[in-house]
Amino acid sequence: MFKHLSPQQQFQKALSLWDEAMKAPFYRRRFPTTRPENAEAWQALPILKRLELFEHTYPRSKDMLTVPEEGFFISATSGTSGTARYVVCTHAEWEAFCAQQARALRLMGVTPRDLVANVFEAGYLWPSFLAVHDIVKQLNATHLPITSMIPPERILKYCREFKPTVMLSIPTMFVFLADLALKEGAPLEGLRLVAFAGEAMTEAQKAHIARGLGATQFRALAYSSADAGLMGYQCDHCQSGTYHVPTDFQLIEIIDPLTGKACGPGEKGDLIVTNFAQKSMPIVRYEIGDLGTWVAEPCPCGDPNPRFELLGRIGSDDFKLYATIIPMSVFERALEPFHEHVSLNFNLLVTPHESAVDLTLRVESADPEAAKAVIPAIVARIRELDVVINASLEAGNLHALTVQPVPLGTLERNPSTGKLIRLTDRRH
Ligand SMILES: [Zn+2]
Repeated sequence: MFKHLSPQQQFQKALSLWDEAMKAPFYRRRFPTTRPENAEAWQALPILKRLELFEHTYPRSKDMLTVPEEGFFISATSGTSGTARYVVCTHAEWEAFCAQQARALRLMGVTPRDLVANVFEAGYLWPSFLAVHDIVKQLNATHLPITSMIPPERILKYCREFKPTVMLSIPTMFVFLADLALKEGAPLEGLRLVAFAGEAMTEAQKAHIARGLGATQFRALAYSSADAGLMGYQCDHCQSGTYHVPTDFQLIEIIDPLTGKACGPGEKGDLIVTNFAQKSMPIVRYEIGDLGTWVAEPCPCGDPNPRFELLGRIGSDDFKLYATIIPMSVFERALEPFHEHVSLNFNLLVTPHESAVDLTLRVESADPEAAKAVIPAIVARIRELDVVINASLEAGNLHALTVQPVPLGTLERNPSTGKLIRLTDRRH
């Protein structure tokens, strides 16, 4: 359902976007006066960085616009990955973006018979909630526009009343709703597909959400951003984190950050994106901030659009204990066996303690008092799963490891995105 373009066809499309981009003062200053002649010349064009985009976007600057200021849709990227950036597109470009996303949902089996619960945040110029409205309209499915901004008990009540077959939200919210449904003692009825965006969803989270919400199918809604639109979609064969490129819509390059050269299959590099459809404010060779690698094998689904695997964010905030990086997944794995007592929504608080540090794992629970019974077992499991934490506790440079159950919904979320803040590091 997604068109496939060969690299040559993509290059032609990139050139016509280049022509559009040259109408904007920003790109005229930035690019050579003649069109790039081949892929090598294209790869020599400067990379657009986040900060540059922030400094040159509407309304601060009109430098990147190629059309008169009218008929725009303005949206903002979420604040979690640094400074929020504003992006404008025309209504026609917005429709085109939604059409791409609708295709991705059709591939997941969403049909007009589906009832789609939209549990995304609205407000803050965030596009997701409104995009889902237009996407569901294009699919001719039924739309239940709930938002995530109402009391979660109410979200669950709507779901019990209408029995949606598809639910769209962020993993933090799905985990929270699963916690509440389990607390109420009854999973949802009729929910098939959980389609998420904004964060990755771990296998442990999927198992938890299956228990609480009764969902059987879990999919990343797409790999997309307000900056650049849809950059990847999943078929039935795509593992978590693997996406097909919509080659008719987006040029994706994976480059070596040191040399700027294109990476071959299996080589890890920076994702650089160029959106063919966004002409009013072109995004050319934008460093989206994610790392990835090309998947060499053709996909068993038969779709000729190439696949890539996401390998995390550039400079993502790992938890460092002295010189060692501790993956946050350790804590999730430690909590998972105790799902009858605690949620998977947790926050790790790191505080200095004289020359050592204290670790406090705060975890939401439907019954924090009863959950106290499993604290020693959780601590033991963390020590068992992570040798560095265990050794640091024994050596005394980790002063204390404490687990603290707190009521559901009380851990801090990012106020604009609703994403749970997983790490609070007070050492700096
Ligand atoms: Zn496929």
